[in-house]
Amino acid sequence: MKAAAVYPEKKTLGVVTDFPEPQLDSPTAVKLRILSVGVCGTDREIASFLYGTAPEGSDYLVLGHESVGEVLEAGPEVEHFKPGDIVIPMVRHPCAHADCVACRAGRSDFCYTGDYRERGIMKMHGFMTERVVDEVRYMNAVPAAIRDVAVLVEPLTIAEKALLQTLRVQSRLPWGLTSPRRAVVLGAGPVGLLGAMALRHHGFEVTVYSREQPTGGAAAIVRVIGAKYVCSQEKTVEQMAADVGRIDLVYEATGVSQLAFHVLQVLGTDGIFILTGVPGHRGPVPFDTDAAMRNLVLKNQCVLGTVNAGKDAFEAAIADLTAFYAKWPAAVNGLITARFPLEQFAVPILHPQGIKNIVRVT
Ligand code: BGC
Repeated sequence: MKAAAVYPEKKTLGVVTDFPEPQLDSPTAVKLRILSVGVCGTDREIASFLYGTAPEGSDYLVLGHESVGEVLEAGPEVEHFKPGDIVIPMVRHPCAHADCVACRAGRSDFCYTGDYRERGIMKMHGFMTERVVDEVRYMNAVPAAIRDVAVLVEPLTIAEKALLQTLRVQSRLPWGLTSPRRAVVLGAGPVGLLGAMALRHHGFEVTVYSREQPTGGAAAIVRVIGAKYVCSQEKTVEQMAADVGRIDLVYEATGVSQLAFHVLQVLGTDGIFILTGVPGHRGPVPFDTDAAMRNLVLKNQCVLGTVNAGKDAFEAAIADLTAFYAKWPAAVNGLITARFPLEQFAVPILHPQGIKNIVRVT
């Protein structure tokens, strides 16, 4: 079987041609034909040999964690899934420690030990290969109506987990998270745009603040979904904040820590600031810690870091993507820039262009 891999020791990328086809190895396992896999910043980091770990005993790591597959076979004890069903397999697998309350509760996205494994990222081969076998508990069914864009589910889980967490955190306010709810999204890449869609869909007024030109495709998508686009090359953070009014929520999707902590200074009273980016180490920068701490305390603010995702976020992402696709079909299609054959997987990873690039596997 073919598989797209990174060789961390040799520092190369390549297509493995003799990757063994996995077999149904348990009565509750499911075998998938992988249809497509999305490429993201994490893949870029792995392909630059800055992140990611190959499985034990392997000199390569098969890439790919944003995937969509079709069920080929299901073990005798599998309920609710049959050949032909479209599914999104989950990325993270639990650690083995008996005392990790999170993993034992099926929430490896909150793993305490850090010994979790992630498909295509951490000690587990990913989905950029023709066939994959995994336990049915990692599978999420997708309606056929969104088959062509279902590869966006995994990146959307970032926003969905953030929203689920926000609802819980902001239930600290005696009146809950009521209107008007103004959100600022930092970054107009796939995570930012999907986050903007989720926030719009859940009733927020949304402003997307990013460096792309206001005449470009990302800004056009922002306007189609009824959000406002502000170009960071035209307005400072303070000017953007003055235009928005009280900012109740910031959804950070840039991975640029300096920008994030700058925008933290304009978060509104009782607001929540959600960090989703994973920055590289760019070295220390000056930061007014007194001002930040004064605001956090005197304005009851909350800063929340979140990594995707549990089953609840996958299910919410599937439901919401179905709704977005019905409401804004052109905007959702517009998120996908190009589709590449497996043999060319390195092109969108090493030379990204546009918004989301996809590798068509089979
Ligand atoms: C993936 C997550 C993963 C995170 C950290 C993200 O790109 O979508 O599933 O937990 O990277 O490795």
